[in-house]
Amino acid sequence: MKTRSLAALLLFVFFSTFLHADSPDFTIKKIGDGVYAAVANEGGKAGSNAGFIVGSNGVVVVDTFEDAAPARALLAEIRKITTQPVRYVVNTHYHLDHTGGNAAFAEVGATILAHRNLRGWERTENLKFFGKDPKPEYRTMVESLVLPDMVYSEAVDLFLGSRLVQVRYMLGHTGGDSVVIVPDADVVFGGDLVWQKHLPNLIDASTAPWIRTLDKLLRDHPKATFVSGHGDVASASDVKDFRDYIQTLREDIAKAQGTGKSGQELTDTVEAELKPKYGEWGFYKNFVKRNIEQTAAELTGQKRLPPMPAEGQ
Ligand SMILES: [Zn+2]
Repeated sequence: MKTRSLAALLLFVFFSTFLHADSPDFTIKKIGDGVYAAVANEGGKAGSNAGFIVGSNGVVVVDTFEDAAPARALLAEIRKITTQPVRYVVNTHYHLDHTGGNAAFAEVGATILAHRNLRGWERTENLKFFGKDPKPEYRTMVESLVLPDMVYSEAVDLFLGSRLVQVRYMLGHTGGDSVVIVPDADVVFGGDLVWQKHLPNLIDASTAPWIRTLDKLLRDHPKATFVSGHGDVASASDVKDFRDYIQTLREDIAKAQGTGKSGQELTDTVEAELKPKYGEWGFYKNFVKRNIEQTAAELTGQKRLPPMPAEGQ
């Protein structure tokens, strides 16, 4: 790192530490009585959003960032609000940026809960994010990720004393995603099924069921506060915009494929159509080409999806 950027980073850390109560990596936002979102700061080490729900006899944490250090900082923020034990951590899906800090909560005795497919994918599928031949240190890191202690198939309800927290399996983003609903606060933690003004990572996506999932969330929770996986806390209208992005992407690709386009020509055509509406969204440059290529493969039946884990994994 260059000296100047190091100095800027130190200055940033200094001001973040002394002028804000929050970690430099994320911002805590209260979104209901005892319900908090931890929204990742751009350029910080959180890498994704998380959150937590405080009941009368314990806490449920939703997602653990991409590393144990920001996850420990999240635990410290929770400790400022309540002395209740963290009973459960829900991993909304297997991706590293949502499971990387599991160790921080496992070491204080929390039970890590997730959809059963996640357990089969966490230490294998995460390797693909480091290229074809991952460096040994990345391999070791992925292979030492803390796995869920408890898995479920369709639905599980958690009770924090009298407070109900619903965990529901929903399709679209990886095939092993959970949504966490707090009915008494009208809050929905969408994990990476909900991105707020950000292009999504579609590497494992099935976009048709994903649209149905978002329609169901909007139908069942029309006035809810949604915690996105990436971006800010979201309203129903943000969720609708995100649903429309996936639909537009599918339609524009299908139209281009219908006129015989494929490869680079298809990507260029579709990108020109997406840019006026979505060019300002976060991760646009990172994901737009991959979104088009991956969805084009999906629509022609050529997309690789994570294989169903064997029973007992
Ligand atoms: Zn994510």
